[in-house]
Formats: sequence, structure tokens, C-alpha cells
Amino acid sequence: MQTFTDTMKRLERVRLYLRRRYGDPPRAAVTHPVEHALRAILNEEAAGAQVDEAMERLHQHFVDLNDLRVSRPREIRDVLGTDFPRGGHKARVIPRLLDQVFHQHNSMVWDFLEAMGKVEARTYFEKLEEVRPFVAAVLARDCVGAHAFPVDNDVARVLGRLGIVDPAKESEAKMQDLLERGVKANRAYEVHGLVKRLAEDLCVVGTPVCARCPLGAMCPSAVLPPKGKRRKAAAKAKARAAPKPAREPKAAAKKKPKAASRKR
Ligand code: SF4
Repeated sequence: MQTFTDTMKRLERVRLYLRRRYGDPPRAAVTHPVEHALRAILNEEAAGAQVDEAMERLHQHFVDLNDLRVSRPREIRDVLGTDFPRGGHKARVIPRLLDQVFHQHNSMVWDFLEAMGKVEARTYFEKLEEVRPFVAAVLARDCVGAHAFPVDNDVARVLGRLGIVDPAKESEAKMQDLLERGVKANRAYEVHGLVKRLAEDLCVVGTPVCARCPLGAMCPSAVLPPKGKRRKAAAKAKARAAPKPAREPKAAAKKKPKAASRKR
């Protein structure tokens, strides 16, 4: 049976492989906590480009964040687009979150966070209705510097497939607790960012692209083609990734002297 220490060693190997593939996840200071919360909610099961487009559409359609707060979920869902991942759920959660905070702090910029401690900020968001633990974890981590490992559906799916957590048996809060105990505070942001990147890139909802995954050899859920085909696919991928040699300029074709081509 796998112990907690084994599981965390496994997660460390995941970090090393993913870091080699993707590098250090980018980190930017949070200038607007409300926008950051919206992005965290929208980002679950959605690609970064989809989130950027959705944020753009929300800004264009609603006068401001207060207008978004008082809008009907159906209108928000239509603005997100009918095919936006979990659009109906997100359209319901967003105004609920904004509205609850507004009624308690009369604020649409959430500057009250500046006076809150790490535990207080996290507990505050956790207690709000319909706000999932991962949203509270993102806000506590990125706005007040708390140690947190947010587990949304993407993180649960990837780490579940890797056998590090068990989303079928463990709640979101329990998985977060486990990962926060096992991953050091100075590594948590990096591991989380790398797992989210894999979730968007290869370990997607539905059928994962295991043949291109750097974790294929260690993943108990990997669906890989037979070895021969795998070698060919790896060789092809390597050839694609290799820098192409710069083309040498074509030597100017020598023109035949006109006189030489004429028949005498
Ligand atoms: S091998 Fe496949 S299932 Fe496992 S982490 Fe990679 S993409 Fe996901």
C-alpha cells in the first residue's frame, strides 16, 4: 500500500518531469482580487485563451463589475457562450460570490483583504455560499500570501489519473489538505501551475493525449500505443522539435552567355 511519503515522492517526480517540459510557471502580482477570482472560476476546465476571450466579452457586455453582480445567470451564461466549459455553473457562481461580498463589505474592489490575515481571508471565502474551496484557496494564496494548493476539477483529474489523490473518494477540501501537508509552501505554486498546464495541454477532459505526455511511463492511467509505434511517434516528435538548419542562399544560376546558346 502506498504511504503518504510515497505519494509525495511521486508528486515530486511529477514536478521534475513537468518542469523539464514546461519550465517555471509564470507568476504575476494580483492587482485586482475580483478579476482574479473571476479568472480562477472561469479557468476550471477551460484553456487560458478561452478565459481571456470570456473576460473580454464580460467587460464588453456589462457596464462594470457591479452590473455583472446584479445580472441573471442566464444572461451571463449567454455572454460566456453556450459551449464555454461548465458555463451554466460558472454563470451562477460568479454573481453569487460578488453579491455576498458586496453585501458584507460594500465593495467591488475587495480592498478589505489588505487588513485580513492568511487564515482569516481563506476562512472568509470558504464560508460563502456556493463558493468552492479551490476559489478560497486561490484568493488566500494569491491575495494574502497563504500556503494553499487549490484543487479544482483539472487538478483533481490529473492527480487522480496519476494516483496521487482519489477524487472519487476524497472531497475537494480533503485533497487540498493532503497536498498542503505534503508540498512545501515554497513549491506549492510551482507544482499547482505545472499540473494546471498539463491539464490544459495533454491531460484534458475526456481522452488524454498520453502518447505525448512526459509522465506516460509513471502514470497508472496512461493509454499508450504499443512500443514500436511509440518509438516512431517519439522519433517524429523529436524531429519536429529539432531546429531546422538554416537554408543556404541558392547559388545564382549561371546564365549561359547569349552568344553561346545561339546556333552558329
Ligand atoms: S499519461 Fe495520460 S493520463 Fe497520465 S498524466 Fe499524462 S496525459 Fe494524463
